[in-house]
Amino acid sequence: MAELVFFSGTMDCGKSTLALQMDHNHRARGRSGLIYTKMDRMGESVLSSRLGLSTDAGEVTDDVDFWDAVVEYATAGHRVDYLICDEAQFYTPGQVEQLAKIVDEMGIDVFAFGITADFRTQLFPGSRRMIELADRVQVLQVEALCWCGRRATHNARVVDGVMVVEGEQVVVGDTKPGQAGLVEYEVLCRRHFMRRMNSAAARAAATSPDTLPFDLDLCPVPPC
Ligand SMILES: [Zn+2]
Repeated sequence: MAELVFFSGTMDCGKSTLALQMDHNHRARGRSGLIYTKMDRMGESVLSSRLGLSTDAGEVTDDVDFWDAVVEYATAGHRVDYLICDEAQFYTPGQVEQLAKIVDEMGIDVFAFGITADFRTQLFPGSRRMIELADRVQVLQVEALCWCGRRATHNARVVDGVMVVEGEQVVVGDTKPGQAGLVEYEVLCRRHFMRRMNSAAARAAATSPDTLPFDLDLCPVPPC
């Protein structure tokens, strides 16, 4: 029975690596699949992992209709056993519904990968629809770590070194021409997310004699 599976985790938990591994495993068993991603760090139409692996992938713009794309591909004589869908948090709710329909009506497995919540701790619309519709939601076991060593559960946006909790939901990290501020992301435990204490802030607090004790005995700052 085909399934819609949503593999979720924070940034840096190895989702894209697992997506590539899953594609490899299925191909090794003679199955044939299509790979999609959206706004991969390496650019358009490529699925890349931080470990250095990458493969060609379909770029999911808002006007992509998965149902039409798979019908067209299959009609051209290709077999489709599964879809790998990375960065699924960025898909539209309608696209997630198309994926569910592909599972139900065509018997094709859909393995989707994505982060659940944005830098404001709000669910991405694509992830929300995935959680609502998926046969299974699987939290990835490779755990990203906060600077304090705890399990990182939250994605923080850092602009010019300072953590922010307001702004547009989707801003891909990196400097953009004409845009003030270097946008980066950092994974944190909930405690440090709520305290707005990213690694740079923790380092500053640790080295400043003026800073009041910040409950640091509960969460010691690791030596540099
Ligand atoms: Zn922490």
